[in-house]
Amino acid sequence: MKTIQWFPGHMAKARREATEKINLVDIVIELVDARLPESSRNPIINEIIGNKPRIIVLNKMDMADGAITDYWLNYYQSKGIRAMAIDAQHNKGLKQLQTQCREIMQPYFDKKMAQGVKPRAIRLIILGIPNVGKSTLINRFVGKNQAQTGNKPGVTKAQRWLKFEKDFELLDTPGILWPKFEDPQVGLKLAASGAIKDQLLAIDEITLYVLDFMKQYYPQRLLERYQLTASDLDDQSTTDLFIQMTAKFGYQDDYEQMGQRILHDFRQLNLGRVSLDRPNEEASHA
Ligand code: GDP
Repeated sequence: MKTIQWFPGHMAKARREATEKINLVDIVIELVDARLPESSRNPIINEIIGNKPRIIVLNKMDMADGAITDYWLNYYQSKGIRAMAIDAQHNKGLKQLQTQCREIMQPYFDKKMAQGVKPRAIRLIILGIPNVGKSTLINRFVGKNQAQTGNKPGVTKAQRWLKFEKDFELLDTPGILWPKFEDPQVGLKLAASGAIKDQLLAIDEITLYVLDFMKQYYPQRLLERYQLTASDLDDQSTTDLFIQMTAKFGYQDDYEQMGQRILHDFRQLNLGRVSLDRPNEEASHA
């Protein structure tokens, strides 16, 4: 997993590079993690994108709770923002994403056609915080034997365009932006999902967050996975539950080991598909 330390200088540079790249494209694909679509958005993304057409793409839909993903798609659509869910890893939803892009460009191409100008390729950039699946999506779109068109004259930085499906050109490097830092809850969600490295936050802190969350929203899955009883969940604090589980699974007082096991289960979907951003939480992340 890649970890980037975001210092103010890096953030300014990332913003500048993203803005330069956005100026070159027709449509921005803003990639987020379907498990935490709001928490995995860059805090000033709207400012950076400006008026450029944009689709919010909820990736890793295979890992998220489907009903909650539907909620978020409706939420964005109700705000007039195009949004869709995909699973880049398993090539799900990519055709629909291309269709959406073509629909966005159609009025422009119709106008050009009326002036006798043939449609050109649709230019795209994929933008998002680390680990949301940007490289995976680029590879899925373009495949291994992609044709690279080389540098465009007049473009100062060496931006390369990857062609695919005859009518698309994709910038070969994604725009990488920083995650939200201010809200500790967001930090815990990003850490739980694996978007930021565990070392940045203590394992036991992330584990307690995950246990608490599962107790609240998916208690049955905890009971089944770890053969717990309802009173294990209801009659003691989450910290005591963690201590009990550590002893029960033979880790003595090695909480880090037990924590790693729980986080592994969580990230490998052994606790099922989970969405960490819930309905009605958007206000706190606005
Ligand atoms: P980037 O930092 O945004 O370029 O993210 P990567 O493309 O490197 O992906 C980060 C991790 O998420 C990798 O382990 C990918 O295999 C995984 N990943 C990407 N897309 C999906 C997806 O749709 N579903 C699942 N389950 N995993 C994905």
